[in-house]
Amino acid sequence: MCKYIVVVGGVISGVGKGVATASIARMMQERGFEVSVIKIDPYINCDAGTLRPTEHGEVWVTDDGGEIDQDLGNYERFLGKSLSKHNNITTGQIYKSLIEKERRGDFLGETVSFIPHVPNEIKNRIKKVSEGKDIVLIEIGGTVGDYENVPFLFAMKSLENELGSDNIAYILVTYLPIPSHIEEMKSKPTQIAVKLLRENGIQPDFILCRGKKRLDEIRKKKLELYANIKSENIISMPDVIGPGTVNTIYVIPLDLEKEGLGDKILKKLNLVEKKHPDWSLWEEAVEKILVPEKVIRVAMVGKYLDIGDYQLTDSYISVNEAIKHAAANNNCKVEIEWIDSKEFERDPFGVEKLKHFNGLIVPGGFGGSGVEGKINAIKYSRENNIPYLGLCFGLQLAVIEFARNVCNLRDAHTTEINSLTSNPVIDILPEQKNINEKGGTMRLGAYRALLGEGSRVAGLYGFNEDYESGQQVHKPLEVYESGQQVHKPLEVYESGQQVHKPLEVYERHRHRYEVNPDYHQILTNNGLVFSGVSPNGRLVEFIELPNHKFFVATQAHPEFKSSLLKPAPLFDGFVKACLE
Ligand code: GLN
Repeated sequence: MCKYIVVVGGVISGVGKGVATASIARMMQERGFEVSVIKIDPYINCDAGTLRPTEHGEVWVTDDGGEIDQDLGNYERFLGKSLSKHNNITTGQIYKSLIEKERRGDFLGETVSFIPHVPNEIKNRIKKVSEGKDIVLIEIGGTVGDYENVPFLFAMKSLENELGSDNIAYILVTYLPIPSHIEEMKSKPTQIAVKLLRENGIQPDFILCRGKKRLDEIRKKKLELYANIKSENIISMPDVIGPGTVNTIYVIPLDLEKEGLGDKILKKLNLVEKKHPDWSLWEEAVEKILVPEKVIRVAMVGKYLDIGDYQLTDSYISVNEAIKHAAANNNCKVEIEWIDSKEFERDPFGVEKLKHFNGLIVPGGFGGSGVEGKINAIKYSRENNIPYLGLCFGLQLAVIEFARNVCNLRDAHTTEINSLTSNPVIDILPEQKNINEKGGTMRLGAYRALLGEGSRVAGLYGFNEDYESGQQVHKPLEVYESGQQVHKPLEVYESGQQVHKPLEVYERHRHRYEVNPDYHQILTNNGLVFSGVSPNGRLVEFIELPNHKFFVATQAHPEFKSSLLKPAPLFDGFVKACLE
């Protein structure tokens, strides 16, 4: 039978409930259990795809095309495995499917009401994800006391009644503020959070106390008294990021282990570990993050919007994390400077400052703001042999730059920004033109790409590199033969035996626009290498430039498949090139 660990937030949001959940999931996985994690988002949107990234952080994309809250990214990064879009439940999904079922006649004769139909729908979805799993963690978004959390807390209680309290553990993640005028850690908000949780019939088994500092024994005792929880189950979880701290979230599972949380949870759930946790590789990677041998500087040129007085760099969290994974793998620290691309529009010579960086990344993006600045930056890195990694929009803009400045198509552009350009090198494909709905209609999820043998990209993905007299020869995918599009690296069978297997990779996508097939030939004739294309050859998935230190871009978002112990190959290659 599957056991559940429910994680609820108290006091304020944004205190690292997702990272705590991901860490605990990893701790359970380390004990040999088959683990999955569900994120519950109480908003009415069906998914995070239509949410403003500056307000809600980055949108995470799953292999099966879900557009989800970035917490799912933390789960995948910590577990090193891919999760499904069904691992995210929103209020919108629950009501949408209930109403659809009602209209279909599934409840014929019944009055469909909040209780039991809403909690039942929630539980059914949870049970579906639980199939074949030993332990499922459920993180409920927001904080206890939010109006919109009520159905989910009700469903948890109902799950507990159904399964028995031995099979479900509740963890409350709270925050203990230290107001500057008294410089004392206050436990009152946590006491209130426990009270609010109890109003939903739920007694927490563990409290994870977030705060600037460690929780001292006095406050532990106080909470024990007020919350009726044994002090050994009140766990301190001080900040690890910020001034004077160790500075990596990957230390959290190790810290929680030291607090004995993993074993305490097993005890609560009446479970015996299937294997003893082995953190050696994880510890090694953390050590490399904390004590790097070298430092490199990377310019991340994007669009940065301020929210009031604050900037939300969370919109690029996965890119950031992927860089950290690659950095750890290469024993170095990557200092990222966030540069607003508008800076290079106001002052085109401003790009000169890129020569002080070891590399340039242009991450994904939408819309025209600062685009010419990004294109200027890409041009500078192409011409000055500065390692470049382009992600999604970063590929599209690299193609535009190449078309304008190498192929001499001066007004080359993407129709996303200039629908009237006479050279739409980036465009919506005809088959996508009739899509009007916004939610879930981009090219989403993992797609197969075939890589050119001997290309740099194929080499990065671990496929054999071709060398001729010590020189790497780039054999681009030949997609054209006498003007006709033909795709070469096909599976070749001889007397039933596969003699040639294409070099294939699956990366995740989230975009509407593509390199326009009408321009494939002119681009490749001018020296741009398509090092990965879709199986029908129509979509350009990877590009690279030969005779450049590192100029690689992809239409995908490889950052979504990067984890601490398995960095994304393109990021790894980029960091290596920056180190050279
Ligand atoms: N705006 C571009 C598109 O829709 C790129 C999107 C992205 O970078 N994720 O195709």
